[in-house]
Amino acid sequence: MKINPTFSQLTPSYLFAEIANRVAAYKKANPGKKVISLGIGDVTRPLIKPAVDALIKASGEMGTAEGFRGYGPEQGYEFLRAALVKYYAGRGVTLATDEVFISDGAKSDLGNFLDIFPRGITALIPDPVYPAYVDGNIMSGNKIVYMDATPENGFLPMPEDVEGRADVIYLCSPNNPTGAAYTFEQLAVWVDYALKTGALIIYDAAYERFIQDEDCPHTVFSVPGARGCAVEICSFSKMAGFTGLRCGWTVVPHELQANSVNAAWLRRQCVKFNGVPYIVQRAAEAALTPEGLAAADKNIEYYRINARVIGAALDSMGIRYYGGKNSPYIWMQCGMPSWEYFDKLLNNAQIVGTPGAGFGKNGEGFFRLTAFGGAGNTVEAAQRLLKLK
Ligand code: PLP
Repeated sequence: MKINPTFSQLTPSYLFAEIANRVAAYKKANPGKKVISLGIGDVTRPLIKPAVDALIKASGEMGTAEGFRGYGPEQGYEFLRAALVKYYAGRGVTLATDEVFISDGAKSDLGNFLDIFPRGITALIPDPVYPAYVDGNIMSGNKIVYMDATPENGFLPMPEDVEGRADVIYLCSPNNPTGAAYTFEQLAVWVDYALKTGALIIYDAAYERFIQDEDCPHTVFSVPGARGCAVEICSFSKMAGFTGLRCGWTVVPHELQANSVNAAWLRRQCVKFNGVPYIVQRAAEAALTPEGLAAADKNIEYYRINARVIGAALDSMGIRYYGGKNSPYIWMQCGMPSWEYFDKLLNNAQIVGTPGAGFGKNGEGFFRLTAFGGAGNTVEAAQRLLKLK
């Protein structure tokens, strides 16, 4: 039996394995040293109480004859889709409930969405990038055109940085790994470009809840015209600590190709997806209540303080960095090859971060630190950074 030949085109995903190997080797050689990780992209705060309470309540229901639920709707329960419609209304965006599809997280749909397109389409992807976009398109046999995200464009590539035409355009704002976020005006340029070229924007808003700047929209649908050229993929993972529970959503407007994109995605989901657990959808619904959002925002504020602590240390060291304000990621200029800086930080300050080279060629010379660590460890890491000066 042959494996799809596109799999042989995937580059080995060695980034986090290589980090783990180097850290393990260091710890073995230096057993007494405390290593602090500012490399993780996972949340660390415990699950918010409203979600925990909803999980317990829903689990109880499942154990009763009246409350038991088997297979749910593939596109998600109406109660959660309605709660998301309300969430978007709070952002000034009107959606219909059948434009919202509940998923088991953003990562799945970012790749799965390609199922509805022919193989071999062209995807425009920023570099550096969250690796799942690249690998999902390679697996689908698509052609990838990279657009450079560099200090010159503030790590926010624009249509003027693009050569040729694409069928799908991946935009991630706030961005992983660079932490940069598009302004309303910049997104309006992208929407205009997509409408003119007939491309579909796949907009990854997984970090929208971290946005603080008023001119950075939380959803692409704040931009007029976006309903005609964009889908939005989002997640409860970073917003409400659901990385382990698994729940997200995808918005597919009716306007896209006179509803045929929405209909195709519904068909795809009905064939290949059987929905997110009822109890998890109840927890997600609870995360969208005023109490849930307040609790989630408290955790986000905790991470924001970490980001400020790291940012302040870099400021006083005179190191240029991006992100940290609208995002949990800090993308710092490291002034040397990024794996060299990784070793320097590990050996001299016992801090682990992520070498930018792992996110694409334009990541070389940059280093990603995250705000998802514990507050105490982050303060200690910042003090150690300062001593490195
Ligand atoms: N999109 C971006 C940009 C991410 O950084 C991540 C996770 O780190 C995801 C999507 C995946 O999120 P989820 O946990 O919802 O699959």
